[in-house]
Amino acid sequence: ATNLTSLPLDNSFASLPPAFYTRLMPTPLPSPYLVAVSPAAAQLIGLTPQQVADSLDVLVGNAVPEQAQPLAAVYSGHQFGVWAGQLGDGRAILFGAAATPQGPLELQWKGAGQTPYSRMGDGRAVLRSSIREFLCSEAMHGLGIPTSRALSIAGSNQGVMRETVETAAVVVRLAPSFVRFGSFEHWYYRKQNDQLKILADYVIDHFYPELRASDNPYQGLLEQVTRRTAHMIAQWQAVGFMHGVMNTDNMSILGLTIDYGPFGFMEAFDADHICNHTDQQGRYAYSNQPQVGHWNCYALAQALLPLIGEPEDAQAALDVYQPAFAAKLDELLHAKLGLTQLDAHADADRALFDGMFAMLPGVDFTQFFRRLGGLKSQDASGDEPLRDLFIDRAAFDAWARQYRQRLQAEHSVDGDRQLAMNRINPKYVLRNYLAQVAIDKAQQHDYSEVEKLLAILQHPYDEQPEHDQYAALPPDWASHLEVSCSS
Ligand code: AMP
Ligand code: MG
Ligand code: MG
Repeated sequence: ATNLTSLPLDNSFASLPPAFYTRLMPTPLPSPYLVAVSPAAAQLIGLTPQQVADSLDVLVGNAVPEQAQPLAAVYSGHQFGVWAGQLGDGRAILFGAAATPQGPLELQWKGAGQTPYSRMGDGRAVLRSSIREFLCSEAMHGLGIPTSRALSIAGSNQGVMRETVETAAVVVRLAPSFVRFGSFEHWYYRKQNDQLKILADYVIDHFYPELRASDNPYQGLLEQVTRRTAHMIAQWQAVGFMHGVMNTDNMSILGLTIDYGPFGFMEAFDADHICNHTDQQGRYAYSNQPQVGHWNCYALAQALLPLIGEPEDAQAALDVYQPAFAAKLDELLHAKLGLTQLDAHADADRALFDGMFAMLPGVDFTQFFRRLGGLKSQDASGDEPLRDLFIDRAAFDAWARQYRQRLQAEHSVDGDRQLAMNRINPKYVLRNYLAQVAIDKAQQHDYSEVEKLLAILQHPYDEQPEHDQYAALPPDWASHLEVSCSS
């Protein structure tokens, strides 16, 4: 193909019975303009960035690819712990799947107009939240965390009412599937086990085909999803990512990070930090994410129970969560500290990690781990840049002594360790203020900062010394930034 219009598309989801979706067309936007293209995402579907850019009418939903079968999917879900009933793609439209070497990748417009599932919503997304989703999707991929991808942002000056009047934008996002935990809950709560089975069989056949060989593929599905979810959330914790709205309708059946909204990256460390201004109870606070992930898997288990059969079998699959999460987080924490011997010092290491988190409050999460790589194992001569982040220097010194002993115990080699640590402790994350600067400029039709951030965040582990200021602490004005569900 030479552009999106002629891109060969399949749509396996459209082969499900009509009850799973509504076919519809996107609603056009006036005078669209291109905001950004992700070259890496374009490459995934075999197009050059220019070919994507040339497809502006498709990117914004004003034209539809020749082979597209656009549809909005129905799903339900638990929102903030409460059963919310039917939701569905209220502003997302799936239009097909492109073939890639890794298998089909579905393409969706997000913000392309109302659907039968829009409820009170306008079916639109604003430029602000579209930039955030676009940048964070690609940033998470750069970090090595499973996520949906973002191909493009296209905008229009059409006004969209939020707290203030903003302007509309459409993100084209990509994932092998956008099926959610809530897609299963939908049929369970309607007591339509036939549909439930059709959906589970679809997901197994397309995304977990190896489960066909097992005794109870539905139990296997729950177990696989539970494990992937646990691993994904361990990765979130390790980079300080907070999703903000971990409702079951935002939980991917493939264990991908999806539906970027009021997310945030931990800056001044606070284990109970709440990134979503709308989440007054702190249900989705940083420290709660692991147990919420588990709770969400319970909701999925409940929905799959008619297929799994025995509650004990569902429970056995769910029991995978805690050990999978703990083992993954333990592995990641060891790597973040540059420690290669995982089991030899298990008790001491737990104390080392606890001591670290106890002194971390108020210290920038990303800078702490990145600078930790500069410590010397034999003496304190490399401590200064890290030590400077602390107000309580004595507490830091005490912990650093303990850490040095641990490094010495495994004969750690400073240079090698720093290289390894730099591959797991990012220098660059999508801090809210960085996104805000890009948004402010884009709202004045200057998209250069979006492009620049995208380029930096695709390689978050590289030094990129020319971009040092993008690793800086938030400026004073940013302390007032708030992100909410409004998008
Ligand atoms: P979210 O928490 O952002 O994933 O959204 C929850 C539900 O609300 C989903 O079903 C969305 O499709 C729907 N939704 C959110 N914003 C809008 C909007 N502006 N128009 C229509 N539906 C929306
Ligand atoms: Mg239908
Ligand atoms: Mg959602």
